[in-house]
Amino acid sequence: MKYYIITYGCQMNKSDSERIAYLLEKKGYKPATSEKRADLIVINMCSVRQVAVDRAFGRISSLKDKKIILTGCVLKQDRERLKNKVEVVDFDDLFKTKAKTRYPQGFIPIMEGCDNFCTYCVVPFTRGRECYRKEKEVIKEAKGLIKKGIKEITLLGQNIASYPNFPRLLREIDKIKGNFRISFLTSHPKDFSDELIKAIRDSKKIKRYIHLPVQSGNNEILKKMNRKYTKEQYLKLIEKIRKEITDIEISTDAIVGFPGENKKQFQDTVDLFKKAKFNNAYISSYSPRPGTAASRTKDNVPLKEKEKRAEILRKLF
Ligand code: SF4
Repeated sequence: MKYYIITYGCQMNKSDSERIAYLLEKKGYKPATSEKRADLIVINMCSVRQVAVDRAFGRISSLKDKKIILTGCVLKQDRERLKNKVEVVDFDDLFKTKAKTRYPQGFIPIMEGCDNFCTYCVVPFTRGRECYRKEKEVIKEAKGLIKKGIKEITLLGQNIASYPNFPRLLREIDKIKGNFRISFLTSHPKDFSDELIKAIRDSKKIKRYIHLPVQSGNNEILKKMNRKYTKEQYLKLIEKIRKEITDIEISTDAIVGFPGENKKQFQDTVDLFKKAKFNNAYISSYSPRPGTAASRTKDNVPLKEKEKRAEILRKLF
């Protein structure tokens, strides 16, 4: 029996797919070189953007006569829609296994889910509430990967800075002997503590790169997004990070055209971008995700205007 895995979305999903492969191979499956040659197809789904959902649905319709397992970030209504075509499996059970990655890639998920409920985001609904792997277990996995010759350890979590005592975990991994680097994704600005900044500053192994999604530079929009910080607090945090870690690179995510965002509010994001001087930024146009709080408000910024705003921000870094 052969399997083929189709992965959508973030680094977390890519790492999860490695775990799925490991489990399937333990059950005697062999990897197929293409989906055509596979007896079993696993779709590791992402519901964060509508484009990815549409692509996954298209793929499922084209894969007739195949056994398909759907996992990852799947919304309840999508499960219902697809339940006769595919088998939907929760990732939770797989996550709790101690499965190591099939090929040592250096990705270590340390937590799963998110409790923040940003009003535009489906992650708390698809991945559930936060649960954390034990520190000991994570360190053991890191040691194992370093022993295998892995040169970069990437710790993964949707809301990684909320891991209980994340700075301590970083310091512990930093102490492991060997020639390797450490990176981590993704941090919420509200959880980015002074302790965390110091742990990065004091380490020679942690990469001088932080991804810190801001989403908007307008305080009213930030409040509507339930981001729990203001433009001023965010800029202050960036300033503090740059002061402590002088060679740091910072990237961000921003959403343009959130419901009700007017031109003046958008200008606050432009202003924030000018002040923050990001090294990189991922800009997306808002699209309502089913089930989220924001999807109950009218998506009233025209697509053309969203694209225009996205372009303005893209030119700013
Ligand atoms: S912190 Fe990130 S994953 Fe959690 S709800 Fe907000 S956007 Fe989604």
